[in-house]
Amino acid sequence: MSSLEDGFAAEKLFAQGYSYTYDDVIFLPHYIDFSTDAVSLSTRLSRRVPLSIPCVSSPMDTVSESHMAAAMAALGGIGIVHYNCDIAAQASIIRQAKSLRHPIASDAGMKLPEFEISSLDAFSPSSFVFVTQTAGTMTTPKLLGYVTKSQWTNMNYEQREMKIYDYMKSCDFCVPWDIDIEKMEALLEDKQKGFVVLERDGETVNVVTKDDIERVKGYPKSGPGTVGQDGEWMVGAAIGTRESDKERLEHLVNAGVNVVVLDSSQGNSLYQLDMIKYVKRTYPELDVIGGNVVTTYQAQNLIQAGVDGLRVGMGSGSICTTQEVCAVGRGQATAVYKVCSIAAQSGIPVIADGGISNSGHIVKALVLGASTVMMGSFLAGSTEAPGAYEYKNGKRIKKYRGMGSLEAMTKGSDQRYLGDTAKLKIAQGVVGAVADKGSVLKLIPYTMHAVKQGFQDLGASSLQSAHDLLRSNILRLEARTGAAQIEGGVHGLVSYEKKSF
Ligand code: 5GP
Repeated sequence: MSSLEDGFAAEKLFAQGYSYTYDDVIFLPHYIDFSTDAVSLSTRLSRRVPLSIPCVSSPMDTVSESHMAAAMAALGGIGIVHYNCDIAAQASIIRQAKSLRHPIASDAGMKLPEFEISSLDAFSPSSFVFVTQTAGTMTTPKLLGYVTKSQWTNMNYEQREMKIYDYMKSCDFCVPWDIDIEKMEALLEDKQKGFVVLERDGETVNVVTKDDIERVKGYPKSGPGTVGQDGEWMVGAAIGTRESDKERLEHLVNAGVNVVVLDSSQGNSLYQLDMIKYVKRTYPELDVIGGNVVTTYQAQNLIQAGVDGLRVGMGSGSICTTQEVCAVGRGQATAVYKVCSIAAQSGIPVIADGGISNSGHIVKALVLGASTVMMGSFLAGSTEAPGAYEYKNGKRIKKYRGMGSLEAMTKGSDQRYLGDTAKLKIAQGVVGAVADKGSVLKLIPYTMHAVKQGFQDLGASSLQSAHDLLRSNILRLEARTGAAQIEGGVHGLVSYEKKSF
């Protein structure tokens, strides 16, 4: 019996009428003749956007704003800024992300002037509370002043009941946004301040504490950062397909956006085809990514309309209820394989969007044909994700919500989940929370190393070689029974602690 007859070729496995998720399938190991370090994960997001690593942050308002976009670009991936905000705010997030020369995401608490500090918790995890003009995490709003932990501790009971505006100190230590990290560090030592404020054209770009500098200095590099021709980080943005999105796009282009994603849960629509043609006609240099799609028919339509990349996934996201609500979608492993098979014929890179909860899922998505993975829950809860940490049952958590949840749609994201004219809002997502993941500057490099180990086991030293092995039927895979899935995870222990790195 030839070894090729062991396991199934992808084309056979995915032609059996089942909708397979990542967990449903498993690759059989192949032959190793290179080291893990020899594996290259360099790839393309879309026709003209090269990346060092295949990681994309999802356009969700609890995942991708300026800090995430800058960090993803610094790591060699890319962030796609959400559009659940007005045009000016989205453009400002893009400008700010591009201005963050170092992927710093200050953890320091930002409070409104009328806030009253009631306990030392307000200073966690840094020793400052910063006072800002406007609330929110959309951009770093104009800084008005700050209060230090020691200042507050030394105040008496009555003084502590005052609004922070009444006793804050003014921020008098601003430096240019593009200062070297070493210089910033030396200044912090010199002035004994504990933080500096980065400014560009008179606007606050970021607040940097000593802890931030430690975090940024030490992160392992996976490859060169994703820098555009303007010398700044490449940043993507999501837009819709309404008339008003044409105006939005104009502002985003002026803000320096490098690629746009047409954000729709069912991308094969008249509206999207028209928008693709409009973007290509109006901004021929700008890559446009269409989606979401899960079938070859949908993909073909968008390819014919001129997309530079495709986004795959319907109902696979962790916060998503589309398959329950609408009975439409596809298991993500099948969707990725099918769409990639057709996209490869036109050389169109595919983003496998949603359903990634471990490095093994990333290996599966990439080997099944995707060029990148887009992640929501995997990155939510990180230092760089928008929103403040809270504590629940002793665990440090951050909010993570579907853009089709009622809460998010009330803020404006209903375009993605409603037709152009629907008036009733029906949720296709939920609001939840995820555990603190630390900084993506650490999470992603470790995850990429695990992905490289998966590629090594398969005898694939690059994405291209994995795709070639799959399409030539050399790589074999099988569906896993329920019992095989249980066996493939930790099982049979009374208790255990799972630490990935
Ligand atoms: P995750 O990485 O958390 O599994 O999935 C993230 C992806 O889920 C996003 O990139 C987006 O495609 C999709 N998504 C985000 N919010 C919603 C939602 O509310 N409903 C649905 N159906 N999909 C969502």
